[in-house]
Amino acid sequence: MRLDKYLSENTLYSRKEIKQLVKAKRVQVNGQVIKKADSKVNPDQDQVNLDGISIAYEPFIYYILNKPQGVVSATWDAQWPTVLDCLPQEDMAIYEPAPVGRLDKDTEGLLIITNDGQFNHQIVSPKRHVEKEYTVEVSELIPDSAIDDFQAGLKIDQGDQCLPAKLTIINRDKDREMSHARVTIREGKYHQVKRMFAAIGCQVTALKRIRIGKFYLPEDLGLGEYIKLSKADLEKEI
Ligand code: URA
Repeated sequence: MRLDKYLSENTLYSRKEIKQLVKAKRVQVNGQVIKKADSKVNPDQDQVNLDGISIAYEPFIYYILNKPQGVVSATWDAQWPTVLDCLPQEDMAIYEPAPVGRLDKDTEGLLIITNDGQFNHQIVSPKRHVEKEYTVEVSELIPDSAIDDFQAGLKIDQGDQCLPAKLTIINRDKDREMSHARVTIREGKYHQVKRMFAAIGCQVTALKRIRIGKFYLPEDLGLGEYIKLSKADLEKEI
């Protein structure tokens, strides 16, 4: 592979910066100063150093999946297909990625799948409160008071206290006795959105995640479709 690709995938430098580092004679391969950023390196054999420090090859992959219903957010399941079955099998076998957080089997939408454990932790860590936004359909008319209830922090089930959440009611259809809403939460309790609506007397009939942090589900990404991103792409977004 190209030296600049190797370095951009395994450091925080951009290709442009790497070109400058090479020009400044700060990059060595097997002890030799390299003059061209597009030189070839073999990740399994060559020793790449930057400023004398070894740069290990850690090939991470990142997929964005528009998860369909009927697949489980796991790496293996005895009964159901998993989200990994939606992605290229060759990559799954080589890189052994896992989903970042979970969506219920009947929930659709944005799921990130990666083998970068540190990145995974940054997103799911309860300390970080990364926002997750969902569109929701419920089989009742959501009362206006629910907006304040969500904002105040709902108690779900036996007093499990939720952080403040933002509820936006998109529409209420009196004839069909149903509503559409958008909700943003900053934590990830089990079945959290369904349980929050249950706490105000509403039953969720459809749930889709449309955002994690700054990353939105692309509108043109169909159910079951995915895109592969580089680490640089993803870090720009989240
Ligand atoms: N909340 C839920 O209830 N289910 C999901 O899949 C995600 C958030």
